[in-house]
Amino acid sequence: MSNESSSSLSIVVNRNGLIESLSSNWLDNLDEVTKKALDSSHLIGQPLSIFIRNDSTKMYVESCIQLCRVSKKVITRPYRCDSPTHKRFMELELVPLQNGSVLMNHLLLKVEAFVNRLDIVERVDNRPKKHSGLVRCSFCNKLRRVGEKEWFEPERLVSHTAQNIAVIHSVCPACTQANWTHKS
Ligand SMILES: [Zn+2]
Repeated sequence: MSNESSSSLSIVVNRNGLIESLSSNWLDNLDEVTKKALDSSHLIGQPLSIFIRNDSTKMYVESCIQLCRVSKKVITRPYRCDSPTHKRFMELELVPLQNGSVLMNHLLLKVEAFVNRLDIVERVDNRPKKHSGLVRCSFCNKLRRVGEKEWFEPERLVSHTAQNIAVIHSVCPACTQANWTHKS
């Protein structure tokens, strides 16, 4: 999602992890081509995992949904969904519904411009190159060089502006261990 005016996306996932419904205002914010490809009628009944390409994020999100389902509590956590020009501070809210369904609300809290444009693209094979390449955390958008432990803010890559920076996605240790906030 790169549209700065989009404010929320809501998806209901049923007890089997299949999409039950999703908010129409989300589709309104997409361009025509994407809208056609993502026609919501095609998404109903599909597994949520079609939105998530890499296994570590998939497993993490599934465990979060399960946590909400089992605890029967509304839980929230912050995350980032940056566009090439802006840091986008988001909140993910999970709401338990009847019959094991879970409502996922993605809310845009705040937008901050990057000093330099940063074009980050996902590597199609989602595998790190042997001695180079970058890993991006799906939740905080921090980056790590393959083979190194430190996660750093994306702004540190300013010297690479105007390039397409290829990344694979994962979930960093800080985000994996972060506690969810219980709303009720
Ligand atoms: Zn992270």
